[in-house]
Amino acid sequence: MNISAPPLSDLPAPRRKHEADKLAKRLRHQVGKAIADFGMIEDGDRVMVCLSGGKDSYTMLDVLLQLRKKAPVDFSITAVNLDQKQPGFPEHVLPEYLRSIGVDFHILEQDTYSVVSRVIPEGKTMCSLCSRLRRGALYGYAEQHGFTKIALGHHRDDLVNTFFLNLFFHAKLSGMPPKLLSDDGKHVVIRPLAYVREDDIEAYAEAKGFPIIPCNLCGSQENLQRKQVKKMLAQWENETPGRIETMARALGDIRPSQLSDPKLFDFLALGRRGDAALPDAHAWLAGAPAAPEPVAMALHPVRNHDGLDILKS
Ligand code: SF4
Repeated sequence: MNISAPPLSDLPAPRRKHEADKLAKRLRHQVGKAIADFGMIEDGDRVMVCLSGGKDSYTMLDVLLQLRKKAPVDFSITAVNLDQKQPGFPEHVLPEYLRSIGVDFHILEQDTYSVVSRVIPEGKTMCSLCSRLRRGALYGYAEQHGFTKIALGHHRDDLVNTFFLNLFFHAKLSGMPPKLLSDDGKHVVIRPLAYVREDDIEAYAEAKGFPIIPCNLCGSQENLQRKQVKKMLAQWENETPGRIETMARALGDIRPSQLSDPKLFDFLALGRRGDAALPDAHAWLAGAPAAPEPVAMALHPVRNHDGLDILKS
């Protein structure tokens, strides 16, 4: 979060344009760098851009469309939205916008809302099941239509949030990677906004005037743990601006030998002499045969220079 920067809308017109251009350039640079760093898009890829109607996915689509014009590889983009039939979902908004920018798109319709509201008890958060069903529907569509990459709009702050959620609530050092093979091995998921700050996305979406559809039409509350982590990170960022960026950079600079996971680093081989036998946990737990008793020595107190008694044999 950049707490010192005023919103673009508060700036006088000439400065607003200048700052908006700078922001657009920064986003293109960060998205281009993420694509290159992780090999997200190759020649001939058919990229399915998942569009929810939120600021993140609009921004992702917009920046990818700009980058495609000058990209060193040829790839196609199709925007896909899943209409989950939440009450009040404004069905016309996305098709109108997508037609206006001339991008290939498809609106998938699946009433996951009824399923979620039937299965989840009233008052409980529905987001986790809702997201799983959405993912299933979108992945299924990608498979049927031969998309080679699925692009999701998670950004830098989402990556850091997820890392802390896993750390605090699942005792795992694990996060949300910029590129991922789905569990069934069928889909390559990419997150081109992996280096982009959430507040930059907010400013960009505002400057571009995207027709945002809120993701709370269903009235569900955000998961409490996620809320806690977000609050904690916002507080840290407030007290020490730049901390989220530092942590995001740390996610890309991991030293397995400085952690404690023997699956990730071969601690057993470290400093092992010749063909010494590998340690056997059972033997260590059962206890080795007792070592011979040390020879008893008579000890007598001696006064040292500081006047303190020490024991000497
Ligand atoms: S807020 Fe509603 S639509 Fe959005 S993820 Fe949660 S349950 Fe689904």
